[in-house]
Amino acid sequence: MVGGGLIGLASALAIAGRGLKVVLFGERRVGEASPAAAGMLAPSVERASGPAHDFAIAARDRYPGYIDYLAEHTGIRVPLNRLGILQVALSEKGIKGLQRTALPTSRWLDQGELRDLEPALAHGLGAVYNAEDGAVDNTVLLEALDRAAVASGAIRRIDDAVVALEPQGKTCAVRTRSGDRLQAPFVVLAAGAWAGRITGARFARAVSPARGQLVFYPAQPLRHVVYGPRGYVVPRGDGTIGGSTMENAGFDAGVTEAGVGKVRAASEEICPTLLTPEAPRAWAGLRPVTPDMLPVLGADPEHPPLIYACGHSRNGVLMAPLTGDLVADLVTGARLSHDLSQFRPGRF
Ligand SMILES: Cc1cc2nc3c(=O)[nH]c(=O)nc-3n(C[C@H](O)[C@H](O)[C@H](O)COP(=O)(O)OP(=O)(O)OC[C@H]3O[C@@H](n4cnc5c(N)ncnc54)[C@H](O)[C@@H]3O)c2cc1C
Repeated sequence: MVGGGLIGLASALAIAGRGLKVVLFGERRVGEASPAAAGMLAPSVERASGPAHDFAIAARDRYPGYIDYLAEHTGIRVPLNRLGILQVALSEKGIKGLQRTALPTSRWLDQGELRDLEPALAHGLGAVYNAEDGAVDNTVLLEALDRAAVASGAIRRIDDAVVALEPQGKTCAVRTRSGDRLQAPFVVLAAGAWAGRITGARFARAVSPARGQLVFYPAQPLRHVVYGPRGYVVPRGDGTIGGSTMENAGFDAGVTEAGVGKVRAASEEICPTLLTPEAPRAWAGLRPVTPDMLPVLGADPEHPPLIYACGHSRNGVLMAPLTGDLVADLVTGARLSHDLSQFRPGRF
């Protein structure tokens, strides 16, 4: 396994769960997406089409069982919010746009219903209510996955960077920066935004970094995740995350005054009571994005021992547990439970 973010950890754990041993190469890097993310489970809003949409819905619905599994094996219960996600309208034009694009599974709330549900959105004109969506605390999820990896007894972690992948017949070798070379029947590439920088990972070259800046307000006026016209807010712990920019800044994971300003304006427009005189804490992460915003998930058609699990773009937290299941299916040769054709490596 190359990469110790949510995708690498969930995949390693799923493979270990099928009785196999895993060596996980993971180097901590500034800008890793998994600890930075807002943790929304929002397949109804960050929407795909066709089987990719079905996969995203199934990924969301995989969460409650996954959280129970992690609690049982680690003692850590990862906070999961399944109250639904609101897309609030703040203008007449906003109402029309939201009503036109809402999924049949969502429900329109008028102004009174919205105010009853979320008094802090009393200025909203109505909202689309996606009842099954929500959010997970991805920082606690990482902690639980780390602990579950140790508890499995089948995952060896090596703190080193992989520089090259060398598929050879029925195996694949990994070369590391410190000069080690390890051969395995399968290598899974889950190196986030950096996946395309590894020699030999030709189908990951379509993955690039997209910086997202977030802020944290030490107040929690809302219970639901809420999208507005320019951003979103997510209740987290005893505060609220506001997000986010989507920038091409290469591998620079720093925050900027302009970026934070934009995110604050978008968040405070959704929920004016978030406005504070002090600057909220801010951070940034690098989303591993692909041209169609869908992951690269599957075996290399010419070198099947090399499996790609990268490029999850804006939905990597949502998709991590189900991606892990599918990676384990690919490694063990089990029948795939989902249609991965839209995620095919080499489609770009
Ligand atoms: C601001 C922001 C908000 C987001 N919000 C959401 C959200 O609300 N919902 C959602 O579903 N998704 C969200 N995402 C997207 C989500 O975070 C990512 O899709 C997901 O975390 C990707 O996980 P990953 O494991 O592929 O990558 P990462 O978490 O980046 O992990 C990759 C790991 O691989 C390691 N690595 C890289 N190269 C090498 C190498 N050569 N050798 C060894 N190790 C290496 C890195 O150091 C890192 O640890 C957000 C992302 C950002 C940045």
